[in-house]
Amino acid sequence: MSTRIRFNAISEISKQRTLGGKVDYTRKPIGEVYGEHVFNEEQRRQRLPKSVFKSLQQTVDNGQQLDGNLADAVAVAMKDWAIEHGATHYTHWFQPMTGSTAEKHDSFIVPTAQGGAIAEFSGKELVRGEPDASSFPSGGLRATFEARGYTAWDASSPAFILDNPNGATLVIPTMFISYTGEALDKKTPLLRSMEALNKQALRVLKLFGSPAKRVFTTVGAEQEYFLIDTHFFFARPDLLYTGRTLIGAKPPKGQELEDQYFGAIADRVLAIMAEVEYELLRLGVPIKTRHNEVAPGQYELAPMFETANVATDHQMIVMEMMRKVATRNGMTCLLHEKPFAGINGSGKHNNWSMCTDTGENLLNPGETPHENAQFLVFCAAACRAVYKYGSLLRMSVASAQNDHRLGANEAPPAILSVYLGEQLDGIFHQIEEGGAKSSHKGGNIEVGVSILPKLPRDSSDRNRTSPFAFTGNKFEFRAVGSGQSVAGPNTVLNTIVAESLDYVATQLEKLMGKSGNLNAALQKLLPGMVKEFRPVLYEGDNYTAEWHAEAERRGLPNLRTSVEAIPLANSKMSVELFGKYKVYSKRELDSRRDILLENYCKTINIEAQTLSVMAHTMVLPAALAYEGDVATTINAAKAAGVERSEQSDILHEVADLASALREAAKALDAAIAAQPHGDMLKHATYQRDVLLVRMADVRKVADKLELLVADKYWPLPTYREMLFIR
Ligand code: ADP
Ligand code: MG
Repeated sequence: MSTRIRFNAISEISKQRTLGGKVDYTRKPIGEVYGEHVFNEEQRRQRLPKSVFKSLQQTVDNGQQLDGNLADAVAVAMKDWAIEHGATHYTHWFQPMTGSTAEKHDSFIVPTAQGGAIAEFSGKELVRGEPDASSFPSGGLRATFEARGYTAWDASSPAFILDNPNGATLVIPTMFISYTGEALDKKTPLLRSMEALNKQALRVLKLFGSPAKRVFTTVGAEQEYFLIDTHFFFARPDLLYTGRTLIGAKPPKGQELEDQYFGAIADRVLAIMAEVEYELLRLGVPIKTRHNEVAPGQYELAPMFETANVATDHQMIVMEMMRKVATRNGMTCLLHEKPFAGINGSGKHNNWSMCTDTGENLLNPGETPHENAQFLVFCAAACRAVYKYGSLLRMSVASAQNDHRLGANEAPPAILSVYLGEQLDGIFHQIEEGGAKSSHKGGNIEVGVSILPKLPRDSSDRNRTSPFAFTGNKFEFRAVGSGQSVAGPNTVLNTIVAESLDYVATQLEKLMGKSGNLNAALQKLLPGMVKEFRPVLYEGDNYTAEWHAEAERRGLPNLRTSVEAIPLANSKMSVELFGKYKVYSKRELDSRRDILLENYCKTINIEAQTLSVMAHTMVLPAALAYEGDVATTINAAKAAGVERSEQSDILHEVADLASALREAAKALDAAIAAQPHGDMLKHATYQRDVLLVRMADVRKVADKLELLVADKYWPLPTYREMLFIR
């Protein structure tokens, strides 16, 4: 009987013991563990001739091209280091548009004429690779008959070693580009956007007399996730194929007690967290915090921030490592944005700022009027960017998965607004009024002259409902989904802020003219800017219906679903913006739109088919088995002269629901069959408006049955089991 799987799972889990013992910092203290598997600056300094080291460091720090003649020396040093650490293979590691990572391993070993073998790794192999990549989505950028794209070493992200049970691999972060120079990956546009922001930020900084030579964007992505026992995972086709539960009744206890948030962490879970952290620390991923999240079975991990490029690579490694280590320990890490209906989903809070090569955080309010003026300019540029291009930010987090979360009552809505905090909001108000001379008293901050009050960095007054919040010295973009790469959102963020900084620099240059009076120019520019982006500022509760109405009055776009958001990828606004800053070409944007839509369509199609199979082959049989059971009992009772109408009510109820389920499942099947293939936008729209509705119909009946059918017949692990048994 299929239900045996479920009961076996529970009995197996109760036998589980915490597996710990793999990590022992008494053997090697944490300081030595950190970065031991990274070809980092220290390794490079030790192993490379001084001139090569210096040149490579220029490349790493400033994104300059590496002198091609030096690649051989770097390759040899890297190979020797990797082999000392047990590596047998190397791989060019890249981030195709699937949203995950890809790798193809090549051995270091080369046979010799004498019948032996030597380890070899040339500069050419380091710098460039040619994966047979015809099966990666390219959205039409690369016809499969000219399948070759190539990978190019990204020296700004350090190489590292990944252990596997039988050896180790040297992993080289790379970009993935077509022979015509188009980006086939997520990293290339990110690097281009960082370059765009660098250029424009430096223009502004120059006006402030800053000595900075380079501006980086910094990112720290807090990662939410669920852990459930793998026995349960395997017994649920929906989790296995789609990453989320397509049916499942609400458990008697959900998250209402909020007793899990920041609570003591179960040993089994803690052991996994510690092992994940150990593996990540070895790879130089600076993991900082871990805690329970609001929902039962939900947790969070947060790293220290790094430059956006490295942070993005590290974020991909974090997700992979969490999956791997959890599985090793008998649990499954769910990174889906909404694995369980009715309780919180998972997001990724993308903390973002800009930092100079001299170590100055440009979103840090300063101590002097001059520093404050500079801070206000960068902060205002970010606000203006979200005001003008909020819909592109929304697009950057669009997916079938994230649709279940954005706008649900625990995650930011799909309307992009900015939260500044009471004090900063007040300051912007005063700036705005100070410029419009008609203002009432009190409204006049003279930028560049007045000292601002110290802005609070206390977490107590933070607005958790805002999708884009200023948190003291950085912005936190909270609409990113837990399973998404942060490359896309940061590419958009960097570019739209670059555009605003370009605007600011151009205006200031004009206003300053020959006089060169920065303060006067700021006093002229900022009030108008604040007035322009004022509608995007919102300090209230973003979850309320009032805000939705208010946002509509303010004319802020509300792109509720991905079907509305994705087409913006290659809209006129998008093509102009990204084209101007050379981040994406029109063709690259076309391809991204197609890939996003294709992903959406495939995801929902798989979900619909999975649900259909589960309804027909698991839920309905359970209902019928129970119905038969009740009928037999009632007949036997009748034969013995006992008749109770309440008991035949059960029979009617089960029979009615079983019929309703079959009907709903048939309707779903019909809807699946009627999908309009061809035009992807039409297809996606149909899926959203018809297929998802039919799926909800099936779920409604199935969840009722779950609460009626005898437990022993129910084949699927329930919410109460998956979320609470560990
Ligand atoms: P909180 O969410 O309470 O503000 P933290 O201050 O610890 O918590 O920051 C959360 C995340 O923000 C961490 O990943 C941290 O590294 C990151 N972060 C902090 N400062 C910056 C910055 N200047 N740029 C980007 N990310 C940052
Ligand atoms: Mg945070």
